[in-house]
Amino acid sequence: EPPPPSRGGFRAAGGGQRRGFRVPRARSASPQPGGQQQQKKQKKQEEKKEEEDELPERLKGCDKELVKRIEQEVIDSGSPVTFEDVAGLADAKRSIQEMVIWPMQRPELFTGLRAVPKGMLLFGPPGTGKTLIGRAIASSSGATFFSISASSLMSKWIGESEKLVRTMFAVAGYKEPSVVFIDEVDSLLSQRNSNENEASRRLKTEFLVQLEGVGSGDASNKERVLVVGATNRPQELDEAARRRFVKRFYVPLPDDDARTTLLKTLLAKNRHCLTEADIEGYLVPKTDGFSGADMRNLCQEAAMGPMRDVGSKLFAAGGSIDESQIPPISLKHFDAALAVTAATVAQSDLEQYEAWNATFGSAR
Ligand code: ADP
Repeated sequence: EPPPPSRGGFRAAGGGQRRGFRVPRARSASPQPGGQQQQKKQKKQEEKKEEEDELPERLKGCDKELVKRIEQEVIDSGSPVTFEDVAGLADAKRSIQEMVIWPMQRPELFTGLRAVPKGMLLFGPPGTGKTLIGRAIASSSGATFFSISASSLMSKWIGESEKLVRTMFAVAGYKEPSVVFIDEVDSLLSQRNSNENEASRRLKTEFLVQLEGVGSGDASNKERVLVVGATNRPQELDEAARRRFVKRFYVPLPDDDARTTLLKTLLAKNRHCLTEADIEGYLVPKTDGFSGADMRNLCQEAAMGPMRDVGSKLFAAGGSIDESQIPPISLKHFDAALAVTAATVAQSDLEQYEAWNATFGSAR
């Protein structure tokens, strides 16, 4: 039974007990009359105490405000995701289990030749479950989940993105086991981008240094920090970046089975009158080429159908509306939804992913 997912809050070494830290009060610099010696001593003691109460040893030297913002904005403590919530992708899930989950749970069994990579890349079309897998890894290994997108690093954290990256990895080490999920990692690591300006070149360097740090795997580095990069444009990664992501998994579009699962799971939350044959014989072939996110959009659109059918009448009448007054979702609603929903991934893109997978992918 894996430990429950961490919900932020610093864990005291060894104890599993959590404690926060506080930002020190502004210290008064104004001299006060009388008992100066005594006051100085007292102040020193107070400062020492505050210091002890502040950041833990491991994070000394980090910017406290930044650590706090990371706790609030980068650590994701949303509801846990299991691998069962991820439809399809059996191969990727099995490999991740062996290479990531087991070692996170029992690091002492994965040493020497079994030492595990600290960097993993998930690549494939948008909306296929890469983020979902990242969250499932964190949830099922009881790891703290850090999630940040490269574009927010370069916009929201502008001017402090290098420092953020450095601090984030320090916090991840302190709160280990940790999973650091970097979305759109291509824009952080692409050659093209880093040629553009000095700031993004430095950011790239800092990130590679940090990746190297967690990946050094020497005996002194026992921190369990896994970096998961996600990208829709793996071909933009240069050789240095590829090398850091030792394992590279293709997350393709959902196949027939996965789309069946997706439809059934999505429909389970609402009343519908679709049969197995409607789903497997009609909707699954009709949605060939749809991503997981496309499937969700399609179902959301279809689910609005019954509401549109009766909504204006029901709402105009006022009074209480019972859910039973809303007709079930039917195939007719899916046909209407299919007319306005299309696959978002182009065939030519798929060929690129497959080619990249054949050259650089880690699938067995
Ligand atoms: P990505 O990170 O690959 O762009 P996400 O993991 O963010 O895609 O997926 C977006 C949404 O699409 C998810 O929140 C989920 O609702 C749905 N989805 C995509 N792929 C899957 C999948 N394999 N299983 C279940 N849901 C999926």
